[in-house]
Amino acid sequence: MPFSFTDYDPYDFANRRHIGPSPAEMEEMLATIGVGSLDALIDATVPSAIRQAAPLDFGPALSEREVLFHLRQTADKNRVMVSMIGQGFHGTVTPPCIQRNILENPAWYTAYTPYQPEISQGRLEALLNYQTMMCDLTGLDIANASLLDEPTAAAEAMALCRRQSKSKAGAFFVDEGCLPQTINVVKTRAEPLGIEVIVGAPDTLAPETVFGALFQYPGVNGAVRDFTDEIAALHAARALAVVAADPLALTLLKSPGEMGADVAVGSTQRFGVPMGGGGPHAAYMACLDAHKRALPGRIVGVSLDARGNRAYRLALQTREQHIRREKATSNVCTAQALLAVMASMYAVFHGPAGLKAIAQRVHLKAVRMAEGLEKLRFTVGPDAFFDTILVTVGALQGVIIRAAAAEGVNLRAVDGDKIAITLDELVRDADIDAVLRAFGGEPVSGPAPAPRLPEALSRQTDYLTHPVFHMNRAEAEMTRYMRRLADRDLALDRAMIPLGSCTMKLNATAEMLAITWPEFSNIHPQAPLEQRAGYAELVKDLSEKLCDATGYDAMSMQPNSGAQGEYAGLLTIRAYHKANGEGARDVCLIPTSAHGTNPASAQMVGWKVVPVKARENGDIDVDDFRAQAEKHAGRVAACMITYPSTHGVFEETVREVCRITHEAGGQVYMDGANLNAMVGLARPGDIGSDVSHLNLHKTFCIPHGGGGPGMGPIGVGAHLAPYLPGHPVTGEGAVSGSEWGSASILPISWAYCLMMGGEGLTQATRVAILNANYIAARLSGAYKVLYAGPAGHVAHELILDTRPLVDLAGVQVDDIAKRLMDCGFHAPTMSFPVSGCLMIEPTESEPKAELDRFCDAMLAIRAEAQAIEDGALDRENNPLKRAPHTVEDLVGDWDRPYSREQACFPPGAFRVDKYWPPVNRVDNVYGDRNLVCTCPPMESYADAAE
Ligand SMILES: *Cc1c(COP(=O)(O)O)cnc(C)c1O
Repeated sequence: MPFSFTDYDPYDFANRRHIGPSPAEMEEMLATIGVGSLDALIDATVPSAIRQAAPLDFGPALSEREVLFHLRQTADKNRVMVSMIGQGFHGTVTPPCIQRNILENPAWYTAYTPYQPEISQGRLEALLNYQTMMCDLTGLDIANASLLDEPTAAAEAMALCRRQSKSKAGAFFVDEGCLPQTINVVKTRAEPLGIEVIVGAPDTLAPETVFGALFQYPGVNGAVRDFTDEIAALHAARALAVVAADPLALTLLKSPGEMGADVAVGSTQRFGVPMGGGGPHAAYMACLDAHKRALPGRIVGVSLDARGNRAYRLALQTREQHIRREKATSNVCTAQALLAVMASMYAVFHGPAGLKAIAQRVHLKAVRMAEGLEKLRFTVGPDAFFDTILVTVGALQGVIIRAAAAEGVNLRAVDGDKIAITLDELVRDADIDAVLRAFGGEPVSGPAPAPRLPEALSRQTDYLTHPVFHMNRAEAEMTRYMRRLADRDLALDRAMIPLGSCTMKLNATAEMLAITWPEFSNIHPQAPLEQRAGYAELVKDLSEKLCDATGYDAMSMQPNSGAQGEYAGLLTIRAYHKANGEGARDVCLIPTSAHGTNPASAQMVGWKVVPVKARENGDIDVDDFRAQAEKHAGRVAACMITYPSTHGVFEETVREVCRITHEAGGQVYMDGANLNAMVGLARPGDIGSDVSHLNLHKTFCIPHGGGGPGMGPIGVGAHLAPYLPGHPVTGEGAVSGSEWGSASILPISWAYCLMMGGEGLTQATRVAILNANYIAARLSGAYKVLYAGPAGHVAHELILDTRPLVDLAGVQVDDIAKRLMDCGFHAPTMSFPVSGCLMIEPTESEPKAELDRFCDAMLAIRAEAQAIEDGALDRENNPLKRAPHTVEDLVGDWDRPYSREQACFPPGAFRVDKYWPPVNRVDNVYGDRNLVCTCPPMESYADAAE
């Protein structure tokens, strides 16, 4: 017998790994849908008028091994130096157990934002720990669960002051000791809102001229000073005070709360989260209780479940963009949940004693450096400092910085004649010696130096007193704690997460590997460009690929979330209008079905949001659109549309909408969150759009992290390219703190593009559409599929109308979502874009078996609703109303008119691998009425289900 050779390619990532259904399964699915071929489905679904002319082509797909080799070569072009640059970014030791069990663990990084609390108790607890840590360290009452970075947190604090201050003044004061990127971003955010920013020394502050002020503590060049008097003067003038504080310094220093501050912001990067060439890291914001309803971002709160057990949930959601739209406190949606979890675990791991010891060591290194330099007769300031000193070097500046670089250390030039040196957890004695050599001296040895912290600011208050920060310090305990929390949650590593609009697709392991390589993770974003050559190359190539895929001419990698991208894109449009003498344009047309971030972002650039109606079939009402454009003639700045629409349909009229906008003198912002339905088939830039953000954490495989990180780069047409955000330190108009946003997660999207190739990406789009249509076909007998295109097909997502079940059986959309947990699923998106309905997006990476498991569960739920309607199940005491069920429901008395078997093992649920929600249904109202946003005292743990 001759050998028979196969053409099966085990390394073909696109077809064998990333794309869920096998070719044979696709045939079956196409038969269920009733179309002859995948191409026929696509041709009938995606209007020919919008199809891109040429196939997406960036060379053949590479295998995993080749891509890793390529990434390694690129990484090697970055040069890892010892960073003493400081300025908001610090070397830190990620405890290996946190790196492996959180950062590299799909149970944590593939989770979704914890909107469904019953399946999110683990990450909610970790985020509650984070909030508790920040309240303790800052001495304030309430903290949120993270913001995007320190500069944007400072800008959000300015907005909070403006809302909450009773002062009529129109200016905001910024301490000149703030990080330059903070000053830049605050200026960007202030300008469209008509806020004047006064930058100066705290001594020059005139409180009656401002509604608020921002101070940096310690200052960028090391000054540590008490702001108590300035804050009192601000309060006397009815203005508010914000302190941007380094959380590590706060373990040794008097807290902002004790100085009287209303708000504190900062970065928790140095709590175990690598610099990553700029991000991602979690920023924090804490404030007084009086301002809690003005706090931006997500807040975790404590509530009860149906059994009266303690349960966590997201609190005060009515502040947020997804509910309040243009009236929201901010546009923040995706933030930095995973990085906040890491920082909180760093605190749990070290405890207060460990954190304090780390801070003291960092300080003593700075003192040792100062002493060595003083011996060399350099003038070293300030008198008291924490981790940063400023050395006057005169004309030697360049020589010393180059000499230090030759020793492998980056220092920071200040003005023309000084050098700032910032010490951190990573710096070794040998590095200090190297710097002293660069200054022309000898290594210093001798007894431990005496501290130079300001005694008047010595911290007198406790922090991290909660037992969670006092676990036995054995790594065994820590590992099990992280494992226990992970097990409470349902993430993509266990089940499909069919969230409409959020594109929860495979985050392949090979894509993730490079982010923890030191050549990507231990790079300071302001290190000299030649040390970041690998990053530069990656950013350039990824930008070109994304331009190719979208039809745009330029890309900015600065925005670190989709909402941030919207804001950056609208600012770009605004600057373009201004440059053309059209600066008065201030109307933004936004369909009522838009994502909440759209109107929230438009409001932030000072525009008036004009809603446009939807037609019966969900499409934009073009007549209303035209009427609104005419009504606001001369004032239309832009429209914000989503394509395919949030209703899951490729609207035929999209070109018309773009044309009307352009004729009215406006620019088209196309929300790119739905790009998973377009890549390779159609390009926003070709259809008539001028700007889009791309959610790399949706379409391009960056994991969701339980609510961040994200990346929201924007693509623009050539006419807008000159107006993209400038460099955060040296430019103008920056929207975030780092040039390339959250640079360290860009290798994920790049690896995805390289492993898929243009054809693979296109196939992913086709299969995303196939999977959605397969679900529509299987469920359309039981539920009405709300919107479809002319041929009866949906795009990459579908909306199921579950509202009829309310009248029939008293079943709400919530009941269905909670019952799906019993079946082992995360619920689809609820009530967006249509109230009372479910929006389902399976993505291309789900195999048929998982789609079928989901459909079986949805059909069983429909049958249960039928049984209620028929009287076979009670209207109140039924498995839908009482879902989800926990292990507690398997033991003890059972007096319900349905069986435990039915309760806990509905279709879809696994027998052996059953996912057990750790709590029964969470009481939302109780949680908001009895707001607790820090770890509850230990007594309440005793009776809770552990
Ligand atoms: C997710 C999403 C956004 C916002 O993106 P974030 O990264 O969460 O800020 C905007 N529009 C749509 C349609 C989305 O689905």
